[in-house]
Amino acid sequence: MSKEYNPYDNVLRIVDEAAAILGYSDNDIESVKYPERELKVSVPVRMDDGSTRVFEGYRIQHSTSRGPAKGGIRFHPDVNPDEVRALAAWMTFKCAVVNIPYGGGKGGVVCDPSQLSEDEIRAVTRRFTAAIAPLIGPEQDIPAPDVGTSPKIMGWMMDTYSMLKGHCIHGVVTGKPVELGGALGRSSATGRGVMITVKNIFKKLHIPLENQPVAIQGMGNVGSTTAGLLYDEGMKIVAVSDVSGAIYCPGGLDIPDITAYLSDNANNLLKDYERDNVVHITNKALLELDVSLLVPAALENQINCENADRIKAKIIVEAANGPTTADADRILNQKKVAVVPDILANAGGVVVSYFEWVQNIQSVSWTEKIVNEKLKDIMDRSFEAVWDLAVQRKVPLRTGAYLIAVKRVVDAKTARAIWP
Ligand code: NAD
Repeated sequence: MSKEYNPYDNVLRIVDEAAAILGYSDNDIESVKYPERELKVSVPVRMDDGSTRVFEGYRIQHSTSRGPAKGGIRFHPDVNPDEVRALAAWMTFKCAVVNIPYGGGKGGVVCDPSQLSEDEIRAVTRRFTAAIAPLIGPEQDIPAPDVGTSPKIMGWMMDTYSMLKGHCIHGVVTGKPVELGGALGRSSATGRGVMITVKNIFKKLHIPLENQPVAIQGMGNVGSTTAGLLYDEGMKIVAVSDVSGAIYCPGGLDIPDITAYLSDNANNLLKDYERDNVVHITNKALLELDVSLLVPAALENQINCENADRIKAKIIVEAANGPTTADADRILNQKKVAVVPDILANAGGVVVSYFEWVQNIQSVSWTEKIVNEKLKDIMDRSFEAVWDLAVQRKVPLRTGAYLIAVKRVVDAKTARAIWP
């Protein structure tokens, strides 16, 4: 993997940049950069055909300085240690920028859920949970859904962990089904947070939302919720995509129809979506459309040195983690594209995960209205703080976000001091 495409190298670069602006020495910052703890596990599973397959899994805790490690579990064929390290570090800085009392962690299993039966996915989930059980728990490390995982899988994780401990422990994972203590509003929280962020950046730049053309890469949990909420706000969603390709309609796509098509059957892909005036384009072409807003909501490294020059969007709101490489970020800054960074833009998910955990450990339940109001409050205040600092320091929003986040993590580490 070249350095540009190694997401962990990209994290280290932005942390070093923020540390230099903050005037930190290597002593201040060194221990903030590297993961505290890494666990690699093997996950043997009896497959439906009677064979045994051994999957590779990881749980990495980047930091627990500000609280328990927090972060999702990814089921995807490309999961690898540096990706999990980067995702764990982004969680640390994300929780810090929105100021919730968590560190950062992430996990994953190298597998392709689209090629596994439900029984096989459940077996992978249960054996993986058992393998990482020594590390996780409501007070030390709390997983959640990410790419390829879902509330149903979180329910199985919670059940497996509870069975091992001998009693019901709701707070070990978030993003669970509501029947198991999942927070109302959690499944739409990341997309809702992205929508709130889009409104905030458009307002700052004095651009009305109505009819502004939008392209969204990825129509999974985050992308589809974002598409629906921006459609409801009157924006014109001209292109969306999934792993099979993108669809494009200059006059605006019918997002409720597309969402219904995708949720009708888990095997439905956009490459088979046929409607009048809708044409098929590549994911690559979607990224380069002439739109006001581009929302990458799939995977890392989608905007890179090869295409950054051709990006025509005026504003990018990063719903995915790490969709822009550090080299591409520099090009976008030169082109004066406003980029709202992942650690701020997609923080809605972890914010509502935090609400879920708070409700679980207090055995209380909040209404969806309360959850959404509290989410909006945190997203608005965090955006405002990042915007103000970026303007004051004359730096891009990503640097502004890291100035806040890195300082909070270093302050916590310094206050605790090195032990012994
Ligand atoms: P998901 O598995 O629900 O959806 C992923 C989507 O991306 C699917 O539509 C898939 O078809 C598409 N996709 C995969 N590879 C693609 C490619 N090469 N090109 C275009 N599309 C592709 O995952 P999700 O939970 O929606 O997560 C999406 C992103 O958001 C990830 O970066 C994830 O880390 C980040 N994120 C998720 C949450 C959350 O709460 N789920 C929170 C914060 C950040």
